Amino acid sequence: MKTAEDLRALLQRIDHRSYPAYKDLRGSYNFTDYILNVDHVQGDPFASPSKVSLCVTGKRSAIPAKLYENRQRRIILQDYLLRQFGIQADQAAFKAKGSGKSGLISVSRCGQEILERGACSITENTGDILLRLEVGLPANGRTINSREAIRIFFELIPVCVEKSLYYKALNHALLEENAKLADNQAYIRKYMKEHDLCAFVADGSILPRESGISQKPMKGAVRFKSPSSMRGEIAVPYGNPLTGMFVPKGVTLIVGGGYHGKSTLLEALERGVYDHIGGDGREYVLTDDTAFKIRAEDGRSIKNVDISMFINGLPNGKDTQHFHTEDASGSTSQAANVIEAMESGSQVLLIDEDTSATNFMIRDELMQLVVSREAEPITPYIDRIRELYEIYGISSIIVAGSSGSYFHKADHIIQMCRYIPEEITDHAKAVAKKYPLTGNPPAASSHPSFDRRPVSVDRKGNDWTKIKVMGRDGIQINRDTIDLRYVEQLVDAQQLVMLGYMLDYAGKHLMNGRVRMDEIVEKVCRMIEEKGMSSICENSYLSSGFAMPRKQEIFACFNRCRKLKM
Ligand code: ADP
Ligand code: MG
Repeated sequence: MKTAEDLRALLQRIDHRSYPAYKDLRGSYNFTDYILNVDHVQGDPFASPSKVSLCVTGKRSAIPAKLYENRQRRIILQDYLLRQFGIQADQAAFKAKGSGKSGLISVSRCGQEILERGACSITENTGDILLRLEVGLPANGRTINSREAIRIFFELIPVCVEKSLYYKALNHALLEENAKLADNQAYIRKYMKEHDLCAFVADGSILPRESGISQKPMKGAVRFKSPSSMRGEIAVPYGNPLTGMFVPKGVTLIVGGGYHGKSTLLEALERGVYDHIGGDGREYVLTDDTAFKIRAEDGRSIKNVDISMFINGLPNGKDTQHFHTEDASGSTSQAANVIEAMESGSQVLLIDEDTSATNFMIRDELMQLVVSREAEPITPYIDRIRELYEIYGISSIIVAGSSGSYFHKADHIIQMCRYIPEEITDHAKAVAKKYPLTGNPPAASSHPSFDRRPVSVDRKGNDWTKIKVMGRDGIQINRDTIDLRYVEQLVDAQQLVMLGYMLDYAGKHLMNGRVRMDEIVEKVCRMIEEKGMSSICENSYLSSGFAMPRKQEIFACFNRCRKLKM
């Protein structure tokens, strides 16, 4: 392997040459304390920055092995190291000067959720750290400026490493606290599975966020307090036992006046599929990690989805067992979202009336009298909600502030009252008894078929694909746009980047019309599990921009790809 001094000599040799001479840097250099790899060199100072990775051995970093001894501890440690490196990188960025992106030093930015990212990984047994960053190699105009490049590699990056990847520079108490938090969160998730809970919301949690554009906790918020009838206690491995609201499996209704905090509670549950960092206020708001937010999504495409459980006898005679459309209505899109969630193995559906199609959720009595069942293609969710639970084991948590009909179907009814929940099940049921549901219940539906075998039309073998991400909103693959705005549990643009590469990989290798959708998703997940995130792309350095999505979002992404044939 080349040495750091080889790198310095190389840089001195190409000084003042035209930018492409930087390509010679590709390779690995031994900096004694770590290995520095130049994985990819940008074409010019204005192009997307060069990819560099750093390997620090577990021995050198000296982080105690107990801090990464299990999966959850390893993930929170990776997240923490990346954040620390990010703080240092921000201070070092653009100290080296030049044109375009010269001097940039950056790593993935982490939000409130703790996600597995391609930018930082720790090897299980050895504790070796791999950190991927981006560097803007300095130039004046398009002429290489080696002096500034030497500053980056020999002054700035070494300081970042020193201050963020070595145990002696880190806050030991905080590292310990993180590890305990991760263990507690994992313990609660296990407890929830063993005790048939959909969710746990700890007393004292802060649910509302600072603003519509910030996921930081709201200051001065009313802290969560469980209704006493739903309160349970979990003896977590570290710290005092936690008390909070147990949301059991079944049908749970959240009601209450407008502005009393219903949607805020549901949103916290939506995000509770991920673990949150300490200080977030939702560290102990945990939801079954297969839970999926269901909403109306007018205009989405639907490919061969069996929505007959909800929609039958459309006036245009369309087959609803193999439903296709390029422009779904509110109700058909919401129906497809439910069936696709079932296909993805989701055990809990989260629904807010604010973002639902009314005709998908209910049909009121008067309408039933005037328009007969035969003339109505939609069997509303209210007529399937018990069946979903009793036959398929799928629970629902629904915000329904305006339709009392759901009282009849609920196992638990929570009323939000000035941001504090109260359980009102008995009272609501007693009142509801006086207003029985009319009309005959619909016949039980047949099990939806998930036999869909996608064919990727235009992605073949080794064709080069251009993947671009529009923030949190969508992915562009070549000329095909996949709209993910309404897949609300995607929390980070880097999850979309990874989804783009997953889709490209699946399109090239698995979507040949013979493999079922669920098997395709399973295969992609298994490969990542076994061979790492970079196994889905040709150049492993691309994984520097990846954050792991859930299986549910992989389905959601593939399902919204208009170019697939199924
Ligand atoms: P609903 O869905 O019942 O109409 P929301 O959940 O949208 O109500 O909440 C209404 C407003 O109250 C939001 O602006 C939200 O940020 C704020 N809010 C929600 N929960 C709390 C809380 N615990 N403390 C303070 N403000 C809150
Ligand atoms: Mg609301």
